[in-house]
Amino acid sequence: MKRSKYNILFEHKGGKFAFNSYTTALNKIDDEFTYILDSIDSMSEEIKAKHSDLIAKMKQEGYIVDKSFDELKSLKFYNMSRKCNSDVLSLTILPTLDCNFACPYCYESCKKGTMSKEAEDKLVEFTEKKLKNKKILKVTWFGGEPLVAKERVYSLSEKLINLCEKMGIKYSAHMISNFYLADEETIKNLKKYKISQVQVTIDGGEKIHNARRRLKNSDEPTFERIINNIVKSKKLGLTIVIRINADKTNIDSLEELVDVLVKKGLTDVFVYLGHTVSFDEGVPAKFTEDCFLTDDFAKISADFTNMLANKGFKNNISYPKPISFHCAAQRLGSYIVGPQGELYKCEHDVGVKNKQIGNIFNYFDKKEINSSEYMEQINWLLSNPFEDEECVNCNILPICMGGCSNYRNKLCKAYCMPFKYNLVELLKIKCDDYNECSNKKEFKSVQVC
Ligand code: SF4
Ligand code: SF4
Repeated sequence: MKRSKYNILFEHKGGKFAFNSYTTALNKIDDEFTYILDSIDSMSEEIKAKHSDLIAKMKQEGYIVDKSFDELKSLKFYNMSRKCNSDVLSLTILPTLDCNFACPYCYESCKKGTMSKEAEDKLVEFTEKKLKNKKILKVTWFGGEPLVAKERVYSLSEKLINLCEKMGIKYSAHMISNFYLADEETIKNLKKYKISQVQVTIDGGEKIHNARRRLKNSDEPTFERIINNIVKSKKLGLTIVIRINADKTNIDSLEELVDVLVKKGLTDVFVYLGHTVSFDEGVPAKFTEDCFLTDDFAKISADFTNMLANKGFKNNISYPKPISFHCAAQRLGSYIVGPQGELYKCEHDVGVKNKQIGNIFNYFDKKEINSSEYMEQINWLLSNPFEDEECVNCNILPICMGGCSNYRNKLCKAYCMPFKYNLVELLKIKCDDYNECSNKKEFKSVQVC
């Protein structure tokens, strides 16, 4: 046996801990554990027998592996097979590119267009064909602002839900929205059309949010109305996730926002900081200057998570998960659908003609296999971290898988996830969480997540 390449050991409050990024096991460890890890390569059969219980546990949780087990090769296989074989069809649908907001950092600000009834029907036909041999349809409503075209969201949802019922397919849906238009009737409709979770962006305390998340055609503030809509959603049973786009201009107002959420009884809402990164063409230079470098952002994000934990937000640690590819853009059966029926792999490419991989109106027509659209799709599917020396040698490869491919392609370098810089800090918060549990006795060598 040998030690895993993906062990990360750290100390916290006088205790020693071990995390393994291949399995994401996290354990409090003792001297016996460290001894086994350090000597497993050359341990005699007799000594192995003495420590057989712990060795078996350590193997099960990935800290040690068989000598012939090649973790990198296994990740490559996992990456290749999961990209091409999935029971899931994922559609991110943009019913409109129009938005009621005019945020300074929005990469879609100049784009327009709303989905026609004809495109809606064609999308249902496209979905039916693509669902053959699938078991799950996952829909994400995105925009523009999807609630600007809420009637289209409702009618298309109804058709897709009926289609899934007819085909015996499981249906689930989420939405990304500024939530300004989410009155009570809308919230009830979102639930009726099986949208189980909405991600809402709030950009800090009231003053800074109102300056950044402003309406396109009015000076009316937006903060209070959005917060009230979130409170209503909670009462009506719709799950909300709050994303705060953090940069140098709003970082000082994060605590003010958190205090408002506490006051409104929203400590059970998942709140996280989004790292604003500029890699799209046409983004103003001022916006780029205001973005944090990933290592600075990672530190801020860990401090923010700590602050949330101290203020009673109990479910706010993004515990890492092993992933087979970085995002859905890299797998078959995942499409971004623009309002004119155009298909893309990444939402950042919407409206960019040479980034299209097809169109729902002619997707199944006989086409040339040597077309640029076909090549665009192949490029996405082949994108992987295994040709990048830094990723191959990275101890968090199994929970990052090379970062955002679009960033990598456009800027010719890897976008390392904030985990690269703040993983241990986040794990320490998780350890504190665990220490508060009543069954502390089991903490030794038990996977906590
Ligand atoms: S390629 Fe990057 S920007 Fe596009 S969906 Fe994936 S992670 Fe997001
Ligand atoms: S992108 Fe960065 S963090 Fe992710 S696997 Fe590669 S080197 Fe590691």
